[in-house]
Amino acid sequence: MIDLHLHTSRCGHATGTVADYVDAARAAGLATVCFTDHLPLPEGWPQHYSMAREEVAAYVSDVRAAARDAAAVGGLEVLCGVEADWLPTCRPYTRDTLAALDLDMVLGSVHFLDDWAFDDPDLIERYRSVDTDALWERYFDEFADAARSRQFDVMAHPDLVKKFGARPSVEPSSLYEQAAEAMAEGGCAVEVNTAGLRKPAAEIYPSLPLLAACRRRGVPATIGSDAHDPGEVGAGGASARALLLEAGYRSVVVFRGRRAEEVAL
Ligand code: ZN
Ligand code: FE
Ligand code: FE
Ligand code: ZN
Repeated sequence: MIDLHLHTSRCGHATGTVADYVDAARAAGLATVCFTDHLPLPEGWPQHYSMAREEVAAYVSDVRAAARDAAAVGGLEVLCGVEADWLPTCRPYTRDTLAALDLDMVLGSVHFLDDWAFDDPDLIERYRSVDTDALWERYFDEFADAARSRQFDVMAHPDLVKKFGARPSVEPSSLYEQAAEAMAEGGCAVEVNTAGLRKPAAEIYPSLPLLAACRRRGVPATIGSDAHDPGEVGAGGASARALLLEAGYRSVVVFRGRRAEEVAL
């Protein structure tokens, strides 16, 4: 099994070193893991959500060193990626920052709607002042733009807007179709992210109907725990696999040097 979404203490809101996560991945019997610490946000954006700018080079070299060590032992492949925010007003920053790094994979995440980090538990009171249906539409509009941006290899936690339980009044089938179509057009994969199981949403991101829409359009899939603690490495992997099979997937992809390679489920 694979887990292509791991954070470390470098991002400031996770615990554990690269070595701690590698040990946990071995213990969990994983075949491939990819580190994806948060790419620094541009100046003027809150800096506490991500690695410090001066830490990025050390992050990449730490992960690459761990990858060499793991390869020498055998049985576990360690890849180096980042999780980058979709910031529609900062596209040159994201493009240039990513281009300067030697990465296996870039996760794209919609964490911000304008300046609201809507997945931050410290900012949930704002859900009370927004219309939930409009929020879902807005989120999926941003998601589609991100998927088409060609900045990301994988769209992370595709229906993150459900994290704290805000649900639209009717099944948002057209939003799911729009999201799947955007990923297909943008040439990116969809992440099956098990962190939702550990949040008020209490289900994997994405929901089965959204994942099935991705499958129908031929969008490849990855699996990630979004671990922020070594104890979460590989968490929910069996549920992710079951959801993928239910949606019609028979394989997932792993990114090496930003190219997708298929792995049977
Ligand atoms: Zn994080
Ligand atoms: Fe995220
Ligand atoms: Fe993450
Ligand atoms: Zn994440």
